Amino acid sequence: MNNQTKIRIRGVTFSYNGKPVLKEVSADISENKITAIIGPSGQGKSTLLSVINRLWENVPGASLQGSIEIFFDGRFKDIYAAGSDPAVLRRKVGLIFQSPNPLPMSIEGNVAFPLRLMGVRNRELIRSKVREALGQAFLWDEVKDRLGDDGRSLSGGQQQRLCIARALVLDPEILLLDEPTSSLDPTACEMIEELLSCLKNSCTLVMVSHYQEQVARISDETYQLADGHLSPA
Ligand code: ADP
Repeated sequence: MNNQTKIRIRGVTFSYNGKPVLKEVSADISENKITAIIGPSGQGKSTLLSVINRLWENVPGASLQGSIEIFFDGRFKDIYAAGSDPAVLRRKVGLIFQSPNPLPMSIEGNVAFPLRLMGVRNRELIRSKVREALGQAFLWDEVKDRLGDDGRSLSGGQQQRLCIARALVLDPEILLLDEPTSSLDPTACEMIEELLSCLKNSCTLVMVSHYQEQVARISDETYQLADGHLSPA
């Protein structure tokens, strides 16, 4: 069994306006596993995800100490090293939010968007990548005859799978998921859980979840965040 560490978090202390939210947090997140982060609201779970893809950096008054290294291209790389480009990092580390956030454009346009942003112009390539990503997200069969419809016309569960497809189109190595099923009904939730269990074959998944049953069902490793400290649960 593969027990390679994918994300190495060391001594991370993170503060908003001088007030620490994460205190000396360290963990090794395993590759091709689902790692769940649990804990009460307001403990810094979303903040921890934002630290892994540098999404917090534009927040005024926020500061970070410690290091995050990710195993990319055969070696650990410090994601905060000078010269390390956050845009490149975010192509490899996708983020899925609690509420699906499709862009105001077609289903196909939503999934193609990150490719277009990167400057991909080859229409055939875009079409095949979109198809592949929608397939990986268990959505292709449901939308293949309506790719031109507005992404926002889909059901909540379909919208969340659309957002997952939009992340997958860039072939990410890591997916960060911030309570990805909390806005969904039980059937949609079950489908996303099945999807995540499949995706760990190709990705490392780090998921914040409030649902103990969900964590018991799908997570391989679980950490609890409380009072700024992260510990195995
Ligand atoms: P959780 O995901 O566990 O609910 P968060 O990471 O969202 O926790 O928030 C942790 C703490 O940091 C909370 O007290 C929250 O109010 C605070 N916080 C989150 N985002 C910001 C921000 N942009 N500016 C200031 N404080 C923030």
